[in-house]
Amino acid sequence: MHALLNAPALKNYPKDSLKSLATALFKTHQQTPFTCTNLDEWVGLVKERYHALMSPPLKPLYNATGVVLSTNLGRACLEPSHLKELELLSGYVNLEVDDTGKRANRCHLVQELLKMLFGAEDALILNNNASALVLVASVFASKAQNKETLLSYGQLVEIGGHFRAHELLDCVTNLKFVGSTNKTYLQDYQHALSPQTTLIATIHLSNFLQQGFVASVGAKELFKLATAHKILFYEDLGSLQSVPQVQKSLKHAHLVSFSADKLLGSVQGGLC
Ligand SMILES: *Cc1c(COP(=O)(O)O)cnc(C)c1O
Repeated sequence: MHALLNAPALKNYPKDSLKSLATALFKTHQQTPFTCTNLDEWVGLVKERYHALMSPPLKPLYNATGVVLSTNLGRACLEPSHLKELELLSGYVNLEVDDTGKRANRCHLVQELLKMLFGAEDALILNNNASALVLVASVFASKAQNKETLLSYGQLVEIGGHFRAHELLDCVTNLKFVGSTNKTYLQDYQHALSPQTTLIATIHLSNFLQQGFVASVGAKELFKLATAHKILFYEDLGSLQSVPQVQKSLKHAHLVSFSADKLLGSVQGGLC
């Protein structure tokens, strides 16, 4: 290690970064039959690794998968014109000041626009849709307050990247599962309601389809049920299909959320 870190060819490289790179390389090479035979080879390897890590990680590629919107390939592409708008960020902006120069809240910047677009009473932008899910359940059906969320067994699904919405929800709310894997009826929700229930949630099945001997309860009915019991109905839409679709969903839901970068071409975000 000492010889490597002090090699003249590595003189102009940051020592701390080299050390952690070299430690990791030594470790891998202990476990594989191939090891470098002399110092020059080690120096070359560390240099190569350093430059690979320091170069921009994203590379353009052709999408020949047949899947237009692929999470693995960056989800929805950004409009070139939107990127032009981002040039603004190379200077100072009014992120948290109002027109009078007073401290303001960044949440309000696009709130009015979102409210107008979707016909929503209120709106928030979060880091992603997963955080929207967690926020909704922790605010409106918090485990700490012994509150409960109803969710159908039919919606215990895993989306790409091992994402399971119900596991996230389970961290912040008491989940009460209703119905069965293939069939869930309105009466399942009705029977499951308790004084602790404050939220009924539905999770969009996204890339999964149930066919055949199946039954599920529509948003309209769940909204009615929730309203009648003075609790909230929340729909995780997964991604935005269209603005009218969200407007329509909001007619039968107290809360909806969706990813900002799945169908809607945006940076990572969640709209709630
Ligand atoms: C993709 C997805 C999420 C997670 O969205 P992110 O923006 O990636 O956090 C949550 N719920 C559903 C139904 C989804 O399809």
